[in-house]
Amino acid sequence: MKKQKNKETIKNSIEKSKQKKILCPKCNSNNCFEEIYPNTDIIGYLCYSCGYTSTSKFKPGSDIEIQAIKSQPDFIRNNVFYDKERDINWYMAVVQTTNGTIFPEPDENNWHWTYAPIKEILEKDLEAYPIPGKTGSFYSHRLAIEEGIKYDNTDFLSACKKLGIFKDFLGKDNGSKKKS
Ligand SMILES: [Zn+2]
Repeated sequence: MKKQKNKETIKNSIEKSKQKKILCPKCNSNNCFEEIYPNTDIIGYLCYSCGYTSTSKFKPGSDIEIQAIKSQPDFIRNNVFYDKERDINWYMAVVQTTNGTIFPEPDENNWHWTYAPIKEILEKDLEAYPIPGKTGSFYSHRLAIEEGIKYDNTDFLSACKKLGIFKDFLGKDNGSKKKS
């Protein structure tokens, strides 16, 4: 009986501290978080300084890693970071919500983070945005790249704030765009 009570207490304290700060293995900042995904044994990682992300399942060459990165741009795949301590690969994060997206972009110096908002397409402009393979259907929203804002590659946090997210997106959705 006593043992069971202890178990409960331990469980509760784990629940409460699901998200905790760690030292980022990529950039050494302490703006990095690890979090156990709800109802799983998977640990997610995200650094708000360099914007690198990973999970405990990203063992180099594993099926899960291969699936996760196969549709990513070469730029992201080529800039993988190997975390020796955890034996996992980290990648630059791409975050999409219905408000906008954050993605890494190469530039003449090195690379930076770009935030671009998602905007509603006006009725009069709809015809310029047909949905491929769906005659008479048009996108209702588009990514406004021309309004993109650049952030230093050590300042992923500012891009997240601009997007209106801060801590709560480790379990991010796949961000499919709104269509009408
Ligand atoms: Zn970092």
